[in-house]
Amino acid sequence: MNKFLNSNFFKFLINIFFPRICLHCKNDIHYLNENILCPACHKQLKKIIPPLCAKCGQPIDSGEHCHPCRKLKTQPNCSFIRSAFIFNDPMRSVIHEYKYNCKPYLSKTLGLWMRELLKTNPEFKGFRFLLPVPLARKKLAQRGFNQSELLADIIAENGDFEVIKNAIIRSKNTKSQTTLNKEDRKSNMLNAFSALKPELIKGKNIILIDDVATTGSTLQELAKTLKKAGAKKVAAFTLARET
Ligand SMILES: [Zn+2]
Ligand SMILES: [Zn+2]
Repeated sequence: MNKFLNSNFFKFLINIFFPRICLHCKNDIHYLNENILCPACHKQLKKIIPPLCAKCGQPIDSGEHCHPCRKLKTQPNCSFIRSAFIFNDPMRSVIHEYKYNCKPYLSKTLGLWMRELLKTNPEFKGFRFLLPVPLARKKLAQRGFNQSELLADIIAENGDFEVIKNAIIRSKNTKSQTTLNKEDRKSNMLNAFSALKPELIKGKNIILIDDVATTGSTLQELAKTLKKAGAKKVAAFTLARET
């Protein structure tokens, strides 16, 4: 029976009743292709590769830091931010389907993509803990899942990392950041998080996990809370990055 369930013929039958379509262009995907995008859309995904700003991870033409980071007078709480992909059209479609069209099972593919690229990043050596960006209680109830937590669970599944859960809550119901500029995003996020269990944070090197990084204000604010709770070092890794 198992042999039949794994056979190409069975996959072909399933496809007749439940055809799979590309999450971006909506064309049919060949029944033997297990990807969530068709080959043409998958090819459009853009991995983020150096040169990048050593702090915020923004792709740059040359040098060590981007212009805004060069002007920083103090070390940011989140020492550095790295991301797997540019937030371009196919990536936007994938994340939209994942978060807003309620497809939590996409975390499997997206988490594996992230794990693969996280591994290639030598700067994360010495980090053992992942902390997904918490959602406010109301948002979590609406969506039914925390997209960042599911990603962290998949990244950590092979035992290379441990996920810290329920140590931090989002205590403030922040406005959606999408229409705000950089300064407003920062003040919107101010004191958004509180540490419930600082003992889970203290002395640890922690990677924050999120789906998309825009200005980094959420990550910086969360890192500030972790640092106050005694974290040794905080960095961040996101699935995508707006450029
Ligand atoms: Zn496609
Ligand atoms: Zn920068």
